[in-house]
Amino acid sequence: MGVCGCAQSSFNLATQQEDYTLTSTQKEVAMGRKLALRVEEELPRIPDEPLQARVEGLGRRLAAVCDRQELAYRFVAVEGEEVNAFALPGGYVYVYRGLLDAAKSDDELAGVLAHELGHIAARHSVKRYEVGLGAQLLQLATLAAARRGDVAQGLHIALRSAQLAYARQDEMEADRLGVKYLKAAGFDPKAMLEFLKRLDERDRAKTQYMPRGIVRPYYARSHPYVPERIRVVKEALYGSADYIDYLNTPD
Ligand SMILES: [Zn+2]
Repeated sequence: MGVCGCAQSSFNLATQQEDYTLTSTQKEVAMGRKLALRVEEELPRIPDEPLQARVEGLGRRLAAVCDRQELAYRFVAVEGEEVNAFALPGGYVYVYRGLLDAAKSDDELAGVLAHELGHIAARHSVKRYEVGLGAQLLQLATLAAARRGDVAQGLHIALRSAQLAYARQDEMEADRLGVKYLKAAGFDPKAMLEFLKRLDERDRAKTQYMPRGIVRPYYARSHPYVPERIRVVKEALYGSADYIDYLNTPD
C-alpha cells in the first residue's frame, strides 16, 4: 500500500530515480518544502491563532527531544473532518481539525504528534516519498497550473494516498519512538494508549453500522494495525504487554 493509482500513465520512473533518490537531509528538506507548499495550497490552515499556537507549542516540546535535531519542524492545524495527522519529509507535521476535536487533552494530541515525529525521525516519510509518492504529488501539482480542475482532483487523491498506510513495522517503530519522546518531553505517554483505544472502539462501532461499500477516512485507515499498536505501546510503557493482558488490567 501507499502508492496511489492515479498517475500511472504519465509517471516517469527514470525521473523519479534521478530527482527523488534522497541521500541527504538537505535533499529531504528541499523535497519536504516543495510538498508542503502543495499541501498547504490544498488544505486550508485553520484561522485560529490560539489553536495553532497550542499545536505548535506541543510539537516544539517534542521536537526538542526527538532524534533528529537538524530539522526545522513545522506543525500546522488544517481544515478537514478527518481524524488524522500526517508527516512530510523534512519535518512537516499536519493535523486535521477532526483529530483536534477527537483528542481530549494536550497529552493525547501530543501522542499523535509524537507518533508523526517518530515517522520523520526514523526517515519513514522519506522512504515512502522516495518510492514515488512525492514524485507523483509534485508532477500532479506541476500540471495543476495548466489543467486546474482535473489535476486538483488528482492532487487531492494523491494527498489522500500519501496518508495511507506506512509499513506495519514503521507504524510500530513510530509508536515506540513516540512513547520515548512523550516521556522525555514530560507528557503522559499513557494518553497515547487511551487515544488509540478510543479510536479502535470508534472504528469498530462505525464499521459495524456502515453500509457496505462506503469507506470513510478514519485514522485507522492511514494508520492501520491499531489493535497491534495498542499492544506495542503497552509494551513500551509497561514492559510485557502479554503479561499485562494476562492480568486483565482494567482499561
Ligand atoms: Zn503512523
